[in-house]
Amino acid sequence: MTAIRQNSEFSCDVDVDCLIIGGGAAGLTAALAAENRGLSVLVAEREDKLSGSTALSSGLIPAAKTKAQMRQKLDDDQECFIADIMAKNENTADIANVKRCVLAVSQAIDWLEDSYDIPFHVLDSFLYPGHSRYRMHAVPEVTGAALITRLEQAAIKRDIFISCNLKVTELVISEDGRICGAQAVRPDGSIENIGASSVILACNGYGGSPELVSQHIPEMKEALYFGHPGNQGEAIIWGEALGAKLLHLSGYQGHGSVAHPHGVLVTWALMMEGGVQVNLDGQRFSNEHKGYSEQAVNVLSQPQKIAFNIFDERLLGLGRDFEDFRNAEAAGAVTTADTIEELAIKLGLPPESLSKTLNMCAAHASSGRPDQFGRMFKTETLLQPRFAAVKVTGALFHTQGGLAIDDKARVIRNDGSVIMGLFACGGAACGVSGPDVSGYLSGNGLLTALALGYVAGNAV
Ligand SMILES: Cc1cc2nc3c(=O)[nH]c(=O)nc-3n(C[C@H](O)[C@H](O)[C@H](O)COP(=O)(O)OP(=O)(O)OC[C@H]3O[C@@H](n4cnc5c(N)ncnc54)[C@H](O)[C@@H]3O)c2cc1C
Repeated sequence: MTAIRQNSEFSCDVDVDCLIIGGGAAGLTAALAAENRGLSVLVAEREDKLSGSTALSSGLIPAAKTKAQMRQKLDDDQECFIADIMAKNENTADIANVKRCVLAVSQAIDWLEDSYDIPFHVLDSFLYPGHSRYRMHAVPEVTGAALITRLEQAAIKRDIFISCNLKVTELVISEDGRICGAQAVRPDGSIENIGASSVILACNGYGGSPELVSQHIPEMKEALYFGHPGNQGEAIIWGEALGAKLLHLSGYQGHGSVAHPHGVLVTWALMMEGGVQVNLDGQRFSNEHKGYSEQAVNVLSQPQKIAFNIFDERLLGLGRDFEDFRNAEAAGAVTTADTIEELAIKLGLPPESLSKTLNMCAAHASSGRPDQFGRMFKTETLLQPRFAAVKVTGALFHTQGGLAIDDKARVIRNDGSVIMGLFACGGAACGVSGPDVSGYLSGNGLLTALALGYVAGNAV
């Protein structure tokens, strides 16, 4: 049971300047930044190895005006990035936090490259929904697992102490309300008391807690959770006990394209480049270009909570650029056929209906007008034989609400005062997506992980 403890009976087994709770992208970025300033740092990770949702992710980080963009001669500016984020969340996110994240993420990416030899490039073969420019940065492997490995290697080179199998259970505060450490437990039940003048909460959100999901995001209480199970919501539980301000707890990232029953992410690039989603009646039900996050809800509203991604040979090639997609294909999730009727039969869909759906897409493209859901089709990306499909469902990826912070990533109370010594970053802090699933712009997750990790590590 997680709690807050006054420090009267607290005697430390170890004492550091900065304790970081959670070893995902946020925690490791914060650790590197704090160590860079000469502080002693301990990263406590509850699992036996570093992963978090970061390692499960596609590892794509949006940023504007980076050296990587300049190398690839990609034009972008931070005002445009801010405008894209605010347009997606319909101006419900805190603009100061958005500006802070947009500025800091570019600094963090350039700094990780220059100081730790972590190379980034920008994906420039298609635009993610809601982004006006090419700005999705990735390490060469284009996976979240490689991002974590590279951050971990950088931390090890700097002798940052990362302790796995160390689950923090309580924060410890002094009588005057300042954070002074934490208590943690090992898998064998032994207790470790860690003294720290600053504690950074980098333990993500509460997607792994069915109780908290039911409470704050009831529409996803029965949905598949696709993030890391270690994310149990301690940041908001501790924060609440300390009188911290909690914001946008109903906000989250969903995804409408997880191969079913294989449980593998199928890239949304397929939809952005001409693919469509249909239900068991062979009919489209939404504008796929609005975003993959809200599409989780749209897919879960269909009969049997499933949909089919329909695409073609050209998009099969694009999909294969992504490791997840290759894994889905290897698991047998992709069905192909020479004609749309044959594809429908293989999928158990009404052939006439599926054929009519594609004809309507062609008619919308020729008309030059948006379809009934608001999507614009282009003649050059209309699907052509051979066709392909994946059966998918919707899932909860991670939560977006969390602790309110100030410009130094310090956790603030409801009355606006700062909880001295306590910082939050990544999914532990309130994100930039507002209170609704539709506010999530692609990449908002790793944006706040790297940006606020960088801010917190530089502020402790
Ligand atoms: C399938 C998938 C694909 C995604 N793709 C993208 C993408 O391409 N781009 C993007 O921007 N976002 C993406 N996301 C979201 C992104 O992964 C997260 O927003 C991001 O990884 C959050 O980073 P974090 O460091 O805050 O949390 P995490 O990486 O989850 O790290 C938190 C760590 O804290 C540990 N922890 C929790 N509680 C404790 C405790 N009490 N004591 C000790 N340790 C604790 C956890 O075990 C975990 O390792 C994706 C998510 C999923 C699930």
